[in-house]
Amino acid sequence: MIYTLENHELKHAVEEMLFHLLPTETLSRADSVEQLTEPYCRSILTEENGEAAARAIVCMDGAVHEAEKRASVTGLATLDYKRTITELVKTTVYDAVVPFLPQAPVWGSLTGVRPAKLARGMIERGMTRGEAAVELREHFHVSPERTALTIRAAATAMEMDKTIGENDISLYVGIPFCPSRCYYCSFVSATTAQSGKLIEPYLDTLCREIEETAALVRAAGKQVQSVYIGGGTPTTLDEHQLARLLSALENHFDFSHLREYTVEAGRPDTITPEKLRVLKSAGVGRVSINPQSMNDAVLAAIGRKHGAADVLRAFEQARQAGFDEINMDLIAGLTGDTAETFAQTVDTLLNLSPENITVHTLAIKRGADLTDKAAAAAQRETVSQMLDGASHALQNAGYGPYYLYRQKFMAGGFENVGWCKPGTECFYNVSMMEELQTILSLGAGGVSKRVVRETGWIERANNPKYPLEYIQAADRLANGKKKLLFPKK
Ligand code: SF4
Repeated sequence: MIYTLENHELKHAVEEMLFHLLPTETLSRADSVEQLTEPYCRSILTEENGEAAARAIVCMDGAVHEAEKRASVTGLATLDYKRTITELVKTTVYDAVVPFLPQAPVWGSLTGVRPAKLARGMIERGMTRGEAAVELREHFHVSPERTALTIRAAATAMEMDKTIGENDISLYVGIPFCPSRCYYCSFVSATTAQSGKLIEPYLDTLCREIEETAALVRAAGKQVQSVYIGGGTPTTLDEHQLARLLSALENHFDFSHLREYTVEAGRPDTITPEKLRVLKSAGVGRVSINPQSMNDAVLAAIGRKHGAADVLRAFEQARQAGFDEINMDLIAGLTGDTAETFAQTVDTLLNLSPENITVHTLAIKRGADLTDKAAAAAQRETVSQMLDGASHALQNAGYGPYYLYRQKFMAGGFENVGWCKPGTECFYNVSMMEELQTILSLGAGGVSKRVVRETGWIERANNPKYPLEYIQAADRLANGKKKLLFPKK
């Protein structure tokens, strides 16, 4: 699709909305209306007497639809002005494209990754939950089911927010190694076959970063509320390497205020009783065992080197090791999966009765080719059935949704939802996704965020993305965190 921006430069807003609604289109910008050929989208912005007016004209399949919206911009500060005109531009593009679609997207015109944060903002600014729900449905065209999900996740976040003190922070530690690469993976993760020799130097650097960060945290008077070790697959480390990492954390940080300690033991082919014992004796309380599917054909198709039986074994071993908080991740939309086989996967997990089940929707990798995008779009109905079926089964089994997030490139434009048994919400997941507190991220690819709780202001410091770059940057890793913990007044 070709598009024009007329009298504005909100390229990102227009492209984001077009991609959200028409994921199989390849977008290109034309400099003038004369260059347009069907299918096209014109986005026009005008401003007169303190009022901004956005108009979108979309031509596809021989038909044309137009939409127009206006808003007063008199006296708005720069940020509010930008927010207002961006929303006008996005919603007019939405209104002009939707008549061409077989059905409206379940998230309406919302393209952001944190819908519950948006709802929380509405409630904190004085709306009741009911009013926020009406706003989501009527202004953003969010479906009734997704609206209910969003309000519930917002309410959970607001409750958790009350338990966070001014000096409370959380830690994320990344281990970017996996035994093999899953075909859909969009994380930075190296296989042990390719990069196994980097694991020891990586751990050396990580232990140094742990020591330096802990000293900064102490000096800043902060206390650690939760720790999340993710990846990659942290249990790719052998039991000695795991023990070394966990001791470094325990020896350098003060964990006396810790309320939650999670380690992703994502791949069952990396889980052993010895590693589970190491985790348990270091005080880890929550592990995540992530089958993604319990169908062997699907597991083979996505490049996993294990079957469903290995997941059952790993789960049993984790229970035997004393873990009473276990999360299991699933993905809807994987190659070869059907609504029926996905429902069987959900049933198998419900029989295991883990405390948390996180239902993801397959994310289309950025830069995916047209065939992948078209395949994902064609699967929309199947993914919708998978998610609806999982939602009913989970609710019938006593699980409730407690956090959600969306990704930019998701099959069918759906979402990821964390479900839990009552009282087993993962604090870190909510805190991180809702940006409730400062989180320091250690390891390659880590993005630390300082959250100023009174204003919601967020500042970031990024670690180098890849393991080798990270190792080479060992001398500089503490600098970003120092800036976040000791901001200039
Ligand atoms: S286990 Fe996770 S991080 Fe590792 S390759 Fe698969 S999807 Fe990526």
